Amino acid sequence: MKTIRYGQQFIDENDIQAVIDVLNSDFLTCGPAVEKFEKAIAEYTQSKYAIAVCNATAGLHLACLALGLSTEDTLWTSPNTFVASANCALYCGSKVDFVDIDPRTYNLSVSALASKLKQAQKENRLPKVVVPVHFAGMSCDMAEINQLSKEYGFRVIEDASHAVGGKYLGKPVGNCEYADFAVFSLHPVKIITTGEGGVVLTNNTELYEKVKFLRSHGVLRNKHLSDTVGPWYYELIELGYNYRITDLQCALGWSQLTKIENFVKRRHELALRYDQHLQDLPLQRPIYRSADSYSALHLYPILVEENKHGKTRREVFDALVERGIGVNVHYIPVHTQPLYQRMGFKEQDFPQAVDYYTKAISLPMHYGLTDQEQDHIIKSLYEILL
Ligand SMILES: *Cc1c(COP(=O)(O)O)cnc(C)c1O
Repeated sequence: MKTIRYGQQFIDENDIQAVIDVLNSDFLTCGPAVEKFEKAIAEYTQSKYAIAVCNATAGLHLACLALGLSTEDTLWTSPNTFVASANCALYCGSKVDFVDIDPRTYNLSVSALASKLKQAQKENRLPKVVVPVHFAGMSCDMAEINQLSKEYGFRVIEDASHAVGGKYLGKPVGNCEYADFAVFSLHPVKIITTGEGGVVLTNNTELYEKVKFLRSHGVLRNKHLSDTVGPWYYELIELGYNYRITDLQCALGWSQLTKIENFVKRRHELALRYDQHLQDLPLQRPIYRSADSYSALHLYPILVEENKHGKTRREVFDALVERGIGVNVHYIPVHTQPLYQRMGFKEQDFPQAVDYYTKAISLPMHYGLTDQEQDHIIKSLYEILL
């Protein structure tokens, strides 16, 4: 039997045709497909602007640059995330710090954030930017974070890599009502894909212009310059990057976006089946719905308590892999990575994130997962845990 993967893209004939159409067109990059996709995803998320980029990591970097993050500044994020949520600050020469997670939602804890801000204000080391990560697709409490941002004067970039297709207070995640920016990832394990890709969303015209400009080298081209000097002429104004995305990718992204409601609906069906069938087992299931939030369900992490059934997390993990189930673990707390340890972080600085990490296993969760495959996963968990 082939291995069931924890996350995987779903590509249909329409997706394939959309890419072929671009191959037969005049533009492979920087053509009409990029703008068409940007317009569609801005509309879908109800944000004013969308800028598609080569990946979410680049998107986070550009968002930090546009907010002016530099060597004197600090960015705070959750330790329970992929390293990119923190590394974007290091790219700008800034410092990084973390806020521990809420053991109920595994998202950055708003109460921990509030008390850390209070302390930081006394010590005159407030962050310039806070990056809440919508872990597993469930939005952080953005209204409260927004309130704190006004009180303490920091800017907000939502790392919404897991959350495209999710909702917060009845509106699409990414609408930027409570943040300066939101960033989506379009990597194949995420909700929709462009192969590699990301989207930066904002409602602020100035920030939009800045990100667009830095996405392509920091080079200025306009009618005034080409009229006065010549049509070939451009000026390098600031040091930017080549973080562009291709038309091939954006055609795929547009086609994927037309299916997103079905993608997320199926993830909820699968999560409900996990909930129903796993309730008698000694494990903790994730929360993916609340009065405020409707998760995009990028991940379905369970927590296994070692002493309850005499098997370690590692043993449960290995036993699932042996049965052809490609489970994974999200996330190794970022502050425990060697690079961050060298900056002085200690493992127990963020105990909730470490405690969560030692117990977590991400079960397979993606649109193409069949009921039969899921039954095999459920049956295997019974065999292993009971
Ligand atoms: C996947 C991911 C990223 C990085 O996305 P890329 O598109 O691969 O650069 C950043 N943050 C989180 C939380 C992610 O899961």
